[in-house]
Amino acid sequence: MTTAFITGVGGQDGGYLAELLLARGVEVHALVLAGEPTPDVPAGVRTHVGDVADVDGTRALLLDLAPDRVFNLAAISSVAQSWAEPDRTALVNGTAAVGLLESAHRVAERTGRDVRFVQASSAEVFGQPPSSPQDESTPVRPINPYGAAKAYAHLMVAVYRGRGLHASSLVLYNHESPRRPTGFVTRKITRAVAAIAAGAPGPLVLGNLDARRDWGWAPDYVAALAAAGDAAHGDDYVVATGVAHSVRDFVAAAFARAGVTDWERLVEVDPALVRPADATELVGDATKARTALGWTPTVDFADLVGRMVDADLGLLG
Ligand code: GDP
Repeated sequence: MTTAFITGVGGQDGGYLAELLLARGVEVHALVLAGEPTPDVPAGVRTHVGDVADVDGTRALLLDLAPDRVFNLAAISSVAQSWAEPDRTALVNGTAAVGLLESAHRVAERTGRDVRFVQASSAEVFGQPPSSPQDESTPVRPINPYGAAKAYAHLMVAVYRGRGLHASSLVLYNHESPRRPTGFVTRKITRAVAAIAAGAPGPLVLGNLDARRDWGWAPDYVAALAAAGDAAHGDDYVVATGVAHSVRDFVAAAFARAGVTDWERLVEVDPALVRPADATELVGDATKARTALGWTPTVDFADLVGRMVDADLGLLG
């Protein structure tokens, strides 16, 4: 691979993926929204102003750049936000991905090059799964606007694979880092816990403490995206640690890391933060990714919480 094109470079995953590819000597092009502040886009990324929702504009750019890889990470990235903006979520997380798939297909046809498409999909495509852990054979049955739009994109990746495009969809389970925005529960917790450890009064107000998620380390997950692009053929992969913890477990581990003992009195539940529909447990079986891609998660739950709390405590600068 010599040239890659990334959508969503301004997000947690886009930044980590761009860093990984640049370190490998890849020429990285990326789409950024007009007027969008891009402080986290790594130096060396060649940015192009555009919008994935503008299918024609993005197609013209892709035909011009003719990259070897297209990584689609652009998304309304939180389930919570997708309830507030379901129609825009459909456009950005669903339709825009199809626009990119068609563009990649046309670039491959016109140039004769082995263009490869990698979709960042989500465990949310499984909704309330009937069995745990989930794998590539689990029925796609989303229960929120985010999951439904991601499911459409996921299914269309398979459609384009059928047309001969090297296309992969990676069903990414929750993956976190100190770069996670505070709209996600992990970073909301670690930031609040660090503030409380530094003397803030609290409380930390949360929604469903019993929800269980399979939380991994974001840089591991972008490594899986890169590996899927490098694989001999396109395919679908679940990417997960295989271990679930509750939101309550995360809270307890974060307070413990920060040295706060009597934390129960500092946590409150606000029913308004409990979602209209929320999977009780999402945990993935990444056996296929481990076997076919040689992928393995490098950071476990305790280490993840520790890294995030330490970063918010300012210990890591
Ligand atoms: P998601 O799994 O991609 O939606 O990631 P989130 O980090 O937003 O949510 C993970 C889980 O935490 C979900 O089951 C939420 O219902 C639950 N949760 C509990 N309290 C909160 C909260 O205050 N904010 C968020 N974002 N999620 C919460």
